[in-house]
Amino acid sequence: MTSHVDVVVIGGGQAGLAAGYHLRRLGLDFVILDAQPMSGGAWRHAWDSLHLFSPAAYSSLPGRLMPPQAGEKYPDAQHVVEYLADYETRYELPIERPVLVEGVHRDGPLLRVQTDSGSWRARAVISATGTWWRPFIPAAAGRMAFRGDQLHTMEYRSHRDFAGKRVIVIGGGNSGAQIAADLAYDTELTWVTQREPRFLADDIDGRALFDAATARRRALDKGRSDTGGVASLGDIVAVPSVREARDAGLLKAQPMFKRLTATGVEWADGTTAEADAIVWCTGFRPALSHLAPLGLRGPGGHIPTVGTRSLVEPRLHLLGYGDWTGPASATLIGVGRPAREAGREIAALLAAVRTGN
Ligand code: FAD
Repeated sequence: MTSHVDVVVIGGGQAGLAAGYHLRRLGLDFVILDAQPMSGGAWRHAWDSLHLFSPAAYSSLPGRLMPPQAGEKYPDAQHVVEYLADYETRYELPIERPVLVEGVHRDGPLLRVQTDSGSWRARAVISATGTWWRPFIPAAAGRMAFRGDQLHTMEYRSHRDFAGKRVIVIGGGNSGAQIAADLAYDTELTWVTQREPRFLADDIDGRALFDAATARRRALDKGRSDTGGVASLGDIVAVPSVREARDAGLLKAQPMFKRLTATGVEWADGTTAEADAIVWCTGFRPALSHLAPLGLRGPGGHIPTVGTRSLVEPRLHLLGYGDWTGPASATLIGVGRPAREAGREIAALLAAVRTGN
């Protein structure tokens, strides 16, 4: 079965919904295809104790403020799932679920979006598939030798699964710090980071991160010197759980080890730590395999973009993957603006096609 629409949005997480909001306002004919059976994107898969690093009002998509969560300054992931579900209904976004996009192909003046349940032909495509679905674990000597459990952030649920065990958490970003804090009280924890952890000042949260990312983008756009953006502030937002564990002296990081052994890890000086489980909090990569048929990857494996638009394939926009697709676009509050710009560019493209220009 083949369907026709003006625009296909791939992914029904926050970025896909923000795109849908603007496409709806522009009066365009579109569909959102989402691989999951239910709303919420990656938030539905977060670990139990995950809380946003910004208050609700600063975690809102275009058009509708996120309501505060009772008793929580920083809402939890379930609250975000409920907000996104409500958002879809409120704006009557046309979402098809579960539909997995397998490939996007050129098809004359159109793009063909091939899925596991039919194909869609469209004049433009917005890819908004996030990063959660492509966990990254770096190469490490001895990884196959370790006989305990190894899991990535995306598989971690709760400290209860590890009570009384020896756990090594690897990673000095927000996920690593929050999961280490979660495990700090009832496991024998070793936290390993590539460099000394850099905590942001306690009064800095996602609001300041958004401002820093925006200021950097503006400076670069105007040809001024790089302000350093978010990275200049630090790596770890001191959310309450992290602050508590840090202040209790439970978040002392070790440097990166030399190799994994059958029973744990070994540092360059020969000291070792035994472990029952290792949690790799080592990040994610953009989930872009469905775009492979378009052959857009430039040197370094990145798809070059101007704003959200692919440099080589102007009918394709990439949304929500990180600063390279709009400042702070991989956050709830930051994705609205690039979504609006993508919508406007697509509306202009469609108008040009219709008038033959
Ligand atoms: P996702 O939520 O991953 O949604 C993508 C959707 O696309 C999914 O439903 C997926 O099933 C679907 N999909 C993927 N591939 C396909 C395909 N081939 N075909 C069809 N559908 C597909 N941001 C904040 O603003 N505040 C925070 O506090 C915050 N904390 C974070 C904590 C962690 C641990 C992480 C990892 C991120 C955090 N973020 C935070 C960043 C960001 O807001 C989230 O990662 C968010 O989920 C990204 O939304 P998204 O829509 O881009 O992707």
